[in-house]
Amino acid sequence: MKKYTQGLCLSVLLSFGVSAHTHTHGQGELLVAQDGHTLQMQFIIPADDALNVERTADSATKQEAINVLANKLHTSHYIVDTNGQCVLQSSYNSLNTEHEEHAHQNAHSDKSEDSHEHHDIEATYTFNCKTTVNRFSITLFELMPSLNSLSMQWINNSDQGLLKITRNQPVINWQS
Ligand SMILES: [Zn+2]
Repeated sequence: MKKYTQGLCLSVLLSFGVSAHTHTHGQGELLVAQDGHTLQMQFIIPADDALNVERTADSATKQEAINVLANKLHTSHYIVDTNGQCVLQSSYNSLNTEHEEHAHQNAHSDKSEDSHEHHDIEATYTFNCKTTVNRFSITLFELMPSLNSLSMQWINNSDQGLLKITRNQPVINWQS
């Protein structure tokens, strides 16, 4: 097991979490790290579930769906409800980057994916929280009707663990 020599951050989680990632439609991942008042969340969602666009849709339709989703992912409102305990400090999502990759597809021919349809969308949020958060609701399921579950890994100063979040049970109680 790794030692947390650099403090708690998502990179620590990512270093031992996403390596086991498999791309399965309907299933996403959520990494949560809490260090004092700072709460970080990273969602990794199959693009097919995130965009909810027919594979045969024309490129203009797909691009419009990407733009709409990018705007919604920018705010945490559509993603998670911290029940008023936290204020969003910053967010990042991979959609803009992916758009560039599409535009310069030939320059990225070293990528081994057989199709751009089968990738994941990442969205990361950093919150400042009044207290230690041990309960929040995932609102993402309303935004993405084909997404059924999230595998959640969490870590804080004292512990770490795994939880399953489902469409039917989107309210999370975590930490000990
Ligand atoms: Zn896929």
